[in-house]
Formats: sequence, structure tokens, C-alpha cells
Amino acid sequence: VLKGTGAGALPPMLEQYVAMRDEVAAHLPHAILLFQVGDFYETFGEDAERAARLLGIALTHKSSRDFSTPMAGVPVRALDHNVEKLLAAGVCVAVADQIEEPGSGLVERKVTQLLTPGTVTEERMLSADENYLAAVATGEGYALALLDVSTGEFRTAAFHTRLALYDELSRCRAREVLLAPELSQNPALLADFQTRFPVMLSPANFSEEAAHAELLFALGEVPGTLDSAALRRACGAVLGYARLTQQGRLDMVRRVVRFEPGAHMRLPDAAVRALELFHAQSPQGVTLMDILVQTRTAGGRRRLRAWLRAPLLDELSIRARLDAVEALTRAPDLRGGVRSLLYRAHDLERLAARVSTRRAAPREVASLARTLDLLPEALRLLAGQDGLLGGVRARLGALPDVVTRIRAALVDEPPLRLGDGGLIREGFHAELDGLRAEALGHRAWLAELELGERERTGIGSLKVGFNNVFGYYLEVTSAHLAKVPADYRQIATLKDRARFTRPDLREREREIARLEAAASRLEVEVFTELRDSLAAHAEALSEAAGALSDLDVLAALAEIAVDCGWTRPQTTGGDTRLRQARHPVVERATGGKFVPNDAELGRTRHTLLLTGPNMAGKSTYLRTVALCALLHQIGSFVPADHAELPVYDAVHTRIGASDDLAGGRSTFMVEMSELAAILHGVTARSLVILDEVGRGTSTLDGLAIAQAALEHLHAAGAHTLFATHYFELTRLELDHPGLVNLHVAAEETELSDGGTGGLTFYHQVIPGAARQSYGVEVAKLAGLPGPVTARAGRLLTALNAQGDEGKLRRDLAALDLGRLTPMQALELLHGWQRALLGEEREAEPSR
Ligand code: ADP
Repeated sequence: VLKGTGAGALPPMLEQYVAMRDEVAAHLPHAILLFQVGDFYETFGEDAERAARLLGIALTHKSSRDFSTPMAGVPVRALDHNVEKLLAAGVCVAVADQIEEPGSGLVERKVTQLLTPGTVTEERMLSADENYLAAVATGEGYALALLDVSTGEFRTAAFHTRLALYDELSRCRAREVLLAPELSQNPALLADFQTRFPVMLSPANFSEEAAHAELLFALGEVPGTLDSAALRRACGAVLGYARLTQQGRLDMVRRVVRFEPGAHMRLPDAAVRALELFHAQSPQGVTLMDILVQTRTAGGRRRLRAWLRAPLLDELSIRARLDAVEALTRAPDLRGGVRSLLYRAHDLERLAARVSTRRAAPREVASLARTLDLLPEALRLLAGQDGLLGGVRARLGALPDVVTRIRAALVDEPPLRLGDGGLIREGFHAELDGLRAEALGHRAWLAELELGERERTGIGSLKVGFNNVFGYYLEVTSAHLAKVPADYRQIATLKDRARFTRPDLREREREIARLEAAASRLEVEVFTELRDSLAAHAEALSEAAGALSDLDVLAALAEIAVDCGWTRPQTTGGDTRLRQARHPVVERATGGKFVPNDAELGRTRHTLLLTGPNMAGKSTYLRTVALCALLHQIGSFVPADHAELPVYDAVHTRIGASDDLAGGRSTFMVEMSELAAILHGVTARSLVILDEVGRGTSTLDGLAIAQAALEHLHAAGAHTLFATHYFELTRLELDHPGLVNLHVAAEETELSDGGTGGLTFYHQVIPGAARQSYGVEVAKLAGLPGPVTARAGRLLTALNAQGDEGKLRRDLAALDLGRLTPMQALELLHGWQRALLGEEREAEPSR
């Protein structure tokens, strides 16, 4: 552990450090131990080198006569901040505190906290989003367990393929992933996981026996839904690991929910990224989440993310959400009332979890109380609602009275720490009130003492004072020392005054101290009792918390729908019909200038081939359709004037080119593997968005691949929107029923010198194929030097001619000379001549 120099024995403190470090490493091999030494938390040896690098702190040396080792430390008051930094870097942290006052010998220390990225529960170290710890095991397929220790949410699922598992893992953005030995001991698999996720190589226990014990401990049973060894092992591993970091307490975990990945729309990670649901592709970019996040609570925000990550497949559930959103759009008072109420709510889910693990501090319990105070108003607002809103009302109303009693018990602004006293309200606890009244009586006596003694002694300047060393004392200036009565005993002499005490003063003081200590003990007792009584209702609390989150999301979706003029989509059996649809993000960016478009997909037109110049709006159009489909399936209104949509089983996208530098794969390789995943996974009920497929390779290769992929999707019958710059593809319309050409309107503008110079984009999607690609014009717009674009123009003409020669060869080869009439031959010749030599020769034959 200590990479020191010198052969001497370790100083006793370092010996203590090494022992503790070993103990921590047995559970978390790569954790850094922060070891309190007075006002600093220190690290030594290799850990010091790591810490110095990760935290940007100075590396020094701890040396004794014949031993020296690197050392780096952070001040005690900066602990949280530095722990956060380490966790963000994916490093686990153990904190060893001094647990006795430093004396002459070695100070006793104890590991008080084990902090890992996926299991922190301290509010200040958490983002508002979910914070999942994940474990993966294999058996038949893959088993995943997900635990959010901060809210107690515990879910598990089985996956048939690794790709499906990857999708779920990246959707939930697990902060720490534990791998079963059968995965972590396979170097290729391990490397694959590690390039994608924060894999923690901690020896979490994945054995079946351990899983059995962990499940019994946390849930009191081994639930029947965990019907495979892999599922039980994954669940057991997260529980065991979480229990370790929570010092044995796992009360926030109450049940495990087995979820079916197939119960939700398939939304591969590539689609989540390409559609910019949560992360924009440019640094200042806006995401769909940014637009949607009109929620008012942290719980609502997490719920919205969860809905967006997992759009529904069940038509009834979609309709239930849409009904609720519609009800809220139609009732501005209800919506406004709900939203202003939520504005005052705290993070009830997390507070409920803190209460159930009996960790909540007085202020957290007070926040809980303030939030619960809002419930009667919520119930009143929701009176008479049915459907989902009625369900929310029922869940909020199920909280027992005792829970609302905490309001009566706690003062409005309790102190930070439990021991500080003054947190229980006057009049709540008779014995406590009695102790306080008695102490108050003694204080009143002290206050009167000053006046009384001035009168008795005739010393007008006599004062009663207090300090930590002597307690209460009587103070007299030197001038009046002669008048000091005999019952005063001198305890201190200062330059110009002296301090005295009296037996009855001592007596009162001891009494006050005793009463205050008793009151403070009693307060802790009353508070703990209160918190425990809340913990008994943790289930109802977390139900209410969930209901508030649902309500928040529904109200937020309604607010956006009203604000942005969205419409309620109708669910169809297979057709898509959008009128005046908009891309919510681009629309916001373009101010009032966005051009809405229609989209229609159905059995007779399921493959839309979109051509048009770069920058015309092809990509925006594709994404508009995909986002409308997603929004429909989370139960939201959609940005259009009219919308009919089917329930898609998946949204697949292949958009844009990005290098996977970390994974070491070229743009083309990434593009092809994403395309492969789509072509394997697509069904007739999927929506597929492909933008510029084949761009990453040579023109002919690209064209060939694009055409083959398009034909495959066409045959699969999926709803496909395919934007391309390969004009050759537009002729597929002729012999592929269901394939329809569209293009985005653009117009060349004449320059004053007669040449064609600019392009005007109308962003309007209209039927038919585009006439040409305008690539050279777009290059001009972008400011390529004049001579370069001119040369490119000439090259293009020549290349087009070559392309025509190619076509001529194909036509010739296909000719059946035996069946050709002379008239047909003449017409063919005429056509070839015109194609090859252009318009100027066209008139000649008739001359
Ligand atoms: P393409 O895919 O054809 O290259 P994009 O869809 O990326 O084009 O659009 C380029 C830019 O044009 C967008 O960033 C946006 O500013 C603008 N744009 C696209 N569609 C529209 C529209 N319907 N209305 C207004 N502006 C649009």
C-alpha cells in the first residue's frame, strides 16, 4: 500500500492507515481512503499520487527518521467538494474519522462512510436526476438489476441480446455497473462494457447463496418474479453492494419491480442521441428534454425522463395519459393551481427514502412536513377528477393522519443538527415544555439578580456576565471592590475589574445546564420517535411521492401543449397523418420563421424518399416525424395542427456522421454497425429514419449500400423516411409500390451578372424528386472561393456526361435486337444523342 522509501518500521499512525486501507480494499479495491489527521483528510503512498492528480492538490511527503512516503490531503471543511470530484471521476471513497479527542497516544479512528458514484444519498452530492447502481449477470441471455438508493427504486429485467441490454443501460445512465465474474473475466466482453459504461471492478458477490440471503434481508422473501438464477444473482449483487455502502441499512428498498423491456417502445441509444432527447450534439444545443421540462419538482423531472426513455406500447395507457393531459389543458385553473402548488413541494421521493432509512435530519423532516401540508389543497383541486388524475388523488389521499402530525411537532425552521436543540414546537410535548419552563424560571432569576444586587450593594455598575470557562459570574470594577459583600467569592482578577461567584449562583447554573441537557435529550428522543413513526408509513409516503411526480409531468405536458399550440394526437391502427407538423426545438430556434410540413405514411406509401439540397431541411423533417411519434407514445400532445399516429414498436435512426474515437471505430464502421442493428431489428410496425446513409464511403459503394438497405426496409414494410443525396435512388419509385419521392423546395437565384449564384430554401416538403443536388451552389453559399466552385461546376458537367455514358452502356446491353422495330431504333438513337450531347443538338435531325 505504501510505496515508501527506507526500511524502518512504519510510524504507528501509518500502520493504522495501512490496516484500514487493506480492510477497505477488501470490499472496494480501487477506493481512496481519506484518513483524518487533525484538520485534514490525508492520503498516503500510491493513493496520494492518485488523489493529487484527480483533485489537483499538492503532493508532499510524510517522513520520519527512516521512512518517507508521498502524502496529499484536503482540509476537513472541503471534504464534500473533494469527495464529489472523486465520485465524478468514477472513484470510490472511504472516509476514516477520528472518533476521539486527540490525546497523547494514537488517536482512534473509524471508517464512517463508504461513498461510491452509484450509491451516494447525500443530497448535495446528487444531481436531481436518477442515480442508478446496476448489476449484470448472464444465464440464458442477460439479467440486469437497477437500484436507485436515493429513492429506493429497484427494478430488474431480462434481455435476449447484449444490444438490448446496452440500450437499457445507456438509457438509464447507470453511474456504476457491477459485472458478474462470467462477464468480467472475459477480456473481450469486459473491454466492450468498459468502453461504454462506468464498470466498477469491485468484487460484488454474485453467488446464488449470497443473492438468496440479500433478497431475504432486504425484501423478506425471494420474489417469484425473479424466475431465473441470473435475475436473482444480479439483484443480490446490487443489494449486497448497496448494503455495504449504506452501513448495513437498506430500509428504502421495499420491493423489486420486474419490468419487460418489450413493454416499451424500442428506442436504441443511437436514436436517443440522434433525436437529441437528452443531450444536444452541439455544446449550446437545445434538447427535447429542455423543451419538455416544464416540471416543477425534482421527482417530476425524473419521471419525465423515465417516460421519455420508455415510450408506451399499450394503447389504453397512452390514451389514459392523453386524457389527463387534455383535461389539464381544458382547465386552466386546475392546471395553474396544481403547478403553483408543486412549486412549493420538495423532493418527496428522496425525503421519503431518507426517512425510511432513519437518516433524515430535522430540516429534511421539516421539508417533508411542508410538502405534506400541500396535500389537502391538492386533493381539493383534484376533486371530481377521474382516470389518471383520479388515481393521483387516491394515492395522495391514502396518507394516514399521523404523517401530517409532524407539522404540529416541528418548528418551522429547525436547526441544522439534531443535537442543537430547539426543534420541537412549544406545546407538543408536556414534559419537554415543563423542562423548558423550569429553565426559563432560572434564567429569569438571573436576569433579576443584577438589579437586586446593585440595590443591595450600592454598586451601580455591577453586572451579571457569562463565559465558557467560569459560567455565570458577578463583575465589579476596581473602584468598587471595597463594597463587595462577604458572600461573594472571587474567581478572577482582571486589570480594572474582578469577577465573583456565589453558591446560589452556581446552583442555578448547574440547574440550567441540567435542564437544558435533559430537554435536548428529550428533543432527540421525540424527534427520533417521530421519524420512526414516519418510517412505518414509508410505503404510503413513496406512493404519494410517485403520485405527485405523475401529476407534475401531466401538468407540465399540458402547459407546453397550451403554450406552444400542440394538438392531441389520435391513435390509428397503422397510418400516420400529420398536418403542419413542426420540430419543437428547431421551431424555437428559428423564431416565428419555421415552415410547418405535412407527413403521410400508410400502406400505400410506407417508404418516403426525400431529396433536396443540403441545408434544405431534410433532416429536420425526418426528425419532426420521429419526435411526433415519440411524443404521442409518452402520452403528450404533439407539435402539429392535426395528428394521427399508430403505436410504433420502435423508432430507429441512423443520422449524421460521428467518429467513435474512444471505441477506435471509423465513421463508416459506426454507420454500418448502426445500420446493421436497424436492419436486423426492424418490423412492419417500426418507424425508421435514415439520413444520408452511405456517406462515409466512396460514392459507388455508398450508393449500392443505400439502395440495398432501402430495398430491405421497403420489403419489411416499415415506415421509412430516407433522406439522400443519391439521385439515382429516386427511380426506385417506378418499380417499388409504396415508395414515394419527396423533395424539399429550393430555388436557384439569378445574380445580376447573369450567372446562377444563390439558393433560396423554402423548407417546404413537396411531392416528386428533386431536380438536382445543388451541391456546388451550397458550396458557393458557404463561401468556397469562386475559381474552385467554377471548376467544380465544370467537373460536375463532365461527370454527369460520364454517368450518361454508363447509362447508354446499360441500355445497349439490355437491348433485344431481334424484337426492335426500325422506328423504335430511331427513337432510341434520338434519345441517346440528346442525353449525351445536350439540348443544342436536339433540333438537328429535323433540319
Ligand atoms: P438538411 O438535412 O437538408 O441538410 P437540415 O434539416 O439540417 O437540412 O436543416 C438545415 C437548417 O435549415 C436547420 O438548421 C434550420 O435552421 C433550417 N430549417 C430546416 N427546416 C426548416 C423549416 N421547416 N423551417 C424553417 N427552417 C428550417
